[in-house]
Amino acid sequence: MPRMKKTMIEEVPKKKTSRGKKEIITVTGMRDILPQDQKYWQAVYNSTKKIANDYGYGLIDTPILEYAELYVKSTGKQTDLVEKEMYSFTDQGGDFLAARPEGTPGVVRAYIQHGMVNLPQPVKMFYHGPMFRHEKPQTGRYRQLHQAGFEAIGEDGPTLDAQLILMGYNIMNDLGVDVVVQVNSIGCVNCREEYKKALVKYYKQHSKVLCENCLLRMNKNPMRLLDCKELGCQPIKEEAPQILDYLDDDCKKHFMKVLEYLDELNLPYNLNPRIVRGLDYYNRTVFEYWSADDIEGKSALGGGGRFDGLVELMGGRENTPACGFSLGVDRVVAKLREKETIVPDDYQPDIFFAQLGESAKKQAIVLYESLRKKFKMSQAFYKDSLKAQLESANRFKVKYCLILGQKEVNEDTIMLRDMNGGVQEIIGLGKLEAELIKRLEKYTSEDGVEIIDTDETRAALVSKKRPHTQERDTEENNLDDIGDLSSGFTAIEDEVEAGTPDDY
Ligand SMILES: [Zn+2]
Ligand SMILES: [Zn+2]
Repeated sequence: MPRMKKTMIEEVPKKKTSRGKKEIITVTGMRDILPQDQKYWQAVYNSTKKIANDYGYGLIDTPILEYAELYVKSTGKQTDLVEKEMYSFTDQGGDFLAARPEGTPGVVRAYIQHGMVNLPQPVKMFYHGPMFRHEKPQTGRYRQLHQAGFEAIGEDGPTLDAQLILMGYNIMNDLGVDVVVQVNSIGCVNCREEYKKALVKYYKQHSKVLCENCLLRMNKNPMRLLDCKELGCQPIKEEAPQILDYLDDDCKKHFMKVLEYLDELNLPYNLNPRIVRGLDYYNRTVFEYWSADDIEGKSALGGGGRFDGLVELMGGRENTPACGFSLGVDRVVAKLREKETIVPDDYQPDIFFAQLGESAKKQAIVLYESLRKKFKMSQAFYKDSLKAQLESANRFKVKYCLILGQKEVNEDTIMLRDMNGGVQEIIGLGKLEAELIKRLEKYTSEDGVEIIDTDETRAALVSKKRPHTQERDTEENNLDDIGDLSSGFTAIEDEVEAGTPDDY
């Protein structure tokens, strides 16, 4: 591949804006993940991290750029990933590099490079981050895609396979995505040789009706015949010999054990002889996670399998077994959105702090420093208008709003408004933190899990709390609604706004 030339830099496609100017936009197939969408991504990563901790997997970050040879050698020269989709280039120093198309080769390289073979085995690692594939642009497919993956290197027992299958299943389950695991065994090199012969022999009888790709696959990579999605090839595929009938005793025994453990766990799986995975290094157990509503597996949410030969192939110790899987985070996120799954938002504040008047503002910015360490806070101190600040509070859908005005500063108090009940009251500053802790507790269910604050749960909470609120209303009947703020505030606000341009 040629080096980047100056002319290439100038030939960036630009979008015409409404003002007639040309702006630079994202590269085809790549996208921004905006702040408002991050909660979905964080939900997947949090769930991944939780499972990693539960099963003892340590986080590893490998570089995005590696020598292209790493993927040619491990993923396989004739796979689509390497042959057609790999982003590779020669850098300024003349090295032939690739932006990683998948995570496993880098992890295996790190295992070998850092002598992890000397650690207690298996070495269990997980990763997440962007991968790069120059795929045909189509909806739901990205050229910068995100994966989260788990690899366990140095153990061949079937318990490991079953546990990895379970871990991916657990992640999906935690996220509320119904999946059915598709499991198969593609045996070892020995059983596969026999099978490939049988497969090619069978396909040769039908070569007249096969698609072009399948004709190529027959010679180059017969296992991938079972990957074909062309309509015309489906009937042939249906009747093709099945690998399970060609497994030798050891491979059969290993696979039966994996299934036994899955049965024991009551994990919903489907024995699917068509699952072969497209990469060269897989052997024995292979599996995919299909959404329960994706019956044909058109868009698997993740998958993996054993790769017992890869460490040795990459120059590591002979006979180092390994197993792993990865999840397509983009697809999982799409599924969460499609199902309108409610995910917790790490950045969702509980309390908004508003202020009115210069001396209140000064006290507020100081007070905020201690509150933000204990509570999920938000503010807009740069705004002077109380109305504008309260509109921000509404947008954040906070549970409580603190309002500090001149009167409160003088009296060492603060106004606390319950945004769900509409009740507001004056609280002494000395009692503020204890009050906030007490009040936020009503949003925590009995088992300590935070109730996610959505419009529905909010409505439920409000209706549940109403008798209590009414009681307090009559008890302290001096409370006003924020709509007609205590007259003191309105007066100060009018005063402040008279001399200050509203920044809202
Ligand atoms: Zn075998
Ligand atoms: Zn085909």
